[in-house]
Amino acid sequence: MSKYIPYYHLIDKESEVFTHSFKNKIPILIKGPTGTGKSRFIEYMSHNLEKKLITISCHEETSSTDLIGRYIIKGAETIWIDGPLTVAVKEGAILYLDEIAEARPDVIVAIHSLTDHRRELYIDKLGITIKAHEDFMLVASYNPGYQKGFKELKPSTKQRFIALTFNYPVAKIETEILINETSVELETAKQLVAIGNKIRNLTELGLTETVSTRLLVDAAKLIKSGLPKRLSTHVAIIEPLTDEPQTLEALKDLCNLMI
Ligand code: ADP
Repeated sequence: MSKYIPYYHLIDKESEVFTHSFKNKIPILIKGPTGTGKSRFIEYMSHNLEKKLITISCHEETSSTDLIGRYIIKGAETIWIDGPLTVAVKEGAILYLDEIAEARPDVIVAIHSLTDHRRELYIDKLGITIKAHEDFMLVASYNPGYQKGFKELKPSTKQRFIALTFNYPVAKIETEILINETSVELETAKQLVAIGNKIRNLTELGLTETVSTRLLVDAAKLIKSGLPKRLSTHVAIIEPLTDEPQTLEALKDLCNLMI
């Protein structure tokens, strides 16, 4: 267990929910847009529960083999290497499938028997089934596809988890997060949070994703390290949001009025 204590500002009852999900061996799904603290929360909880955390960032090529394990050739021998899911199941770690909807469908099939009363993993290449360790926990995150471009998670898969929704924190808490994460001055933190909320409310811009807490933290870090405020806001908040020249101009004008 590392000495590093993850900083996470509690928003609601998420800590209790997670702890009870762990105690009752029920998998948990954390829903919400990118950059809203989902991963940080899971780090924080695994630290609190004193459990090892194994994270897999899922993408469209992520397959069950990547999770379960594979044979590799070493010299004249063929040896089996456990994948991260198998390691977590054996050791009793928390396995975090970040952006589970992005993974290939065989990943969902592979975790099936781990997400119900059986709590076992079938390793087809070895022809064996292993029982999960008492403390094994499955956690997944998912970005609901309100906007185009995000993959959906099947309802039958969602129903294998209890679920929590994450969103952008209220201004007061988001300001505290910026200060804690970057030591930026209160006034600047407030300005950045105001910009974030202003852009979040501009639904007519049709942005695929809007300003996340992560982008605000990045802007605050640049300002803290001495980059001018407007430039920091431009490169950390505006440019990552859109490539559309007119939207860039409009957002730039708006931010320059606010910082
Ligand atoms: P997600 O997994 O939802 O994409 P992260 O957990 O990586 O997002 O959060 C992005 C950043 O936002 C973190 O690195 C942290 O700086 C900040 N953050 C967001 N919410 C919180 C919170 N409640 N407490 C502390 N930091 C937060």
